[in-house]
Amino acid sequence: GSMDANVAVLGTESVGKSALTVRLLTRRFIGEYGDIESIYSHSFMVNGREISLNIWDSPYSEKKVQWADGYVLVYSICDRASFNSVSRLIQTIRSKKDYMNAAKVPIVIVGNKRDLHHRRTVLSEEGRLLALNTDCHFYEVSAAENYHSVLMVFHGLVDRMKDAKLTM
Ligand code: GDP
Ligand code: MG
Repeated sequence: GSMDANVAVLGTESVGKSALTVRLLTRRFIGEYGDIESIYSHSFMVNGREISLNIWDSPYSEKKVQWADGYVLVYSICDRASFNSVSRLIQTIRSKKDYMNAAKVPIVIVGNKRDLHHRRTVLSEEGRLLALNTDCHFYEVSAAENYHSVLMVFHGLVDRMKDAKLTM
């Protein structure tokens, strides 16, 4: 059957939350995005199954932590403060969701702006280690350069959400 889920894209300012969201929806990178808080609907097929997502693109707000079934937590590989903020967000989300097993809350961690490797301040290993220690999936992507890797992020989250529905 089909699956409906709410997804929150969270992270500090300018890490590329809107760029990732718009890339998924349109396959394009526009370059400049407003600061409008939006909920987008998007459907795609995964293994012959239709998945409909409501994707909320906005700065962090506690209200939407409850609304969401899954989370895309974004930092920029050129912005250490944004990386630190992701580990705090994981704790906040886990403490607010009513799960038998907090590790099952579907969260994917995304290090964005991979194309800016000359300005990198957060190593891939650090992202991978954070994900390992917090039971999250981890991706490094470039919303600017690559549609496929952005699609993989959302596919990965859908897998986590399916898994959570079975074991919640
Ligand atoms: P938000 O505040 O998290 O929604 O960030 P935006 O999506 O508005 O992106 C902030 C800035 O970073 C914009 O100028 C984007 O063009 C730029 N940006 C977003 N993703 C990438 C990326 O993968 N690579 C590069 N080089 N720039 C990016
Ligand atoms: Mg934005």
